[in-house]
Amino acid sequence: MSGARRDGPRDAEALARGYTPAVRRMELAGIAGYSALVIWLSVKLWPHAWASPWWALTAVLLAYLGADFASGLVHWAADTWGSPDLPIIGPALLRPFREHHVDQLAITRHDFVETNGNNCLGSIPTLAIAVWVAPDAEGGGSFFLSAFLLALVIWVLLTNQFHKWAHLPEPKGAVALLQKLHLILPPGHHALHHTRPYNNHYCITVGWLNWPLGWTRFFPVLEWCITATTRALPRRDDLGASAAVEVMNTTQPPPASHPTPLPARRP
Ligand SMILES: [Zn+2]
Ligand SMILES: [Zn+2]
Repeated sequence: MSGARRDGPRDAEALARGYTPAVRRMELAGIAGYSALVIWLSVKLWPHAWASPWWALTAVLLAYLGADFASGLVHWAADTWGSPDLPIIGPALLRPFREHHVDQLAITRHDFVETNGNNCLGSIPTLAIAVWVAPDAEGGGSFFLSAFLLALVIWVLLTNQFHKWAHLPEPKGAVALLQKLHLILPPGHHALHHTRPYNNHYCITVGWLNWPLGWTRFFPVLEWCITATTRALPRRDDLGASAAVEVMNTTQPPPASHPTPLPARRP
C-alpha cells in the first residue's frame, strides 16, 4: 500500500500481511548468526570473566543502560522517519513498529522468531566488533569492551521480550514482580508512549533513560535538527500528514521556529 495519498494511520491487517516468508527467512538467518557469535564469544570471554568478575559485572550493568538507550534511539528513528514501503529496511525493520502502533496486542501473539528476529539481525554488526576486540593469546584486545558489547546485544535481544511482557493483559509471577520493581519495562510507564502525542518514552528495555532524555528534550531537539536540514516531516508515515504536523508544531523546540505548518509534500 502506498502512503502517498493516505492521511492517517496505516491499516493493521495490511501491515500484518507485510510479514512475508522472505522477511521470516531473513530473521531466521539473523537468529542463527547471532546465536553462533554469542556462543563463540561467551566461551572465549568466560575465563576472563572469572579472573575479573567486577569488570564483568560492571560491563553487564553498563550494557543494561546502553541497551535502554539503543532501544530508545532505534525506536525513535523507526517511529519517526521512513516507511514500510522502503526496500529491505521497510518490511524488515519499520513495518513492525507501524503495526505495533495500530495493533498494540499483535506483539503478544508473535512467536519467538517474529518477536526477536530483527533484533538479532540488527545486533550482528555489534557482535562482529565484539569478536574483533576480544582479548587474544598475545595479550591484545579488550575484555571489558568485548564483554560490554556482548552483554549489550543480549540485553537488546531481551528488549523485545520485556516490551512484549509490558503489553500482556495480566503479567504473572516473576515478570509482574520485576515490572513492579521497575527492573524491566513496566506496563504503566510504557503506556505513556502509546498516548498522545506519541513522541516520547521511546526506551523500552527498562525505561530508566526516558526521564533524562525527556528532561533534556533529546528527541525533539534531534527531530528539529533533522527537519530544519531536510524538511522531512517527523511521524508522517506513522500518524499521517495532518496529525504529524499537529504533533510537530506543539512539541518541537523552539515552537516559534515553525510558525506555519510544513506543507504535506506529495511525491
Ligand atoms: Zn513506538
Ligand atoms: Zn509498545
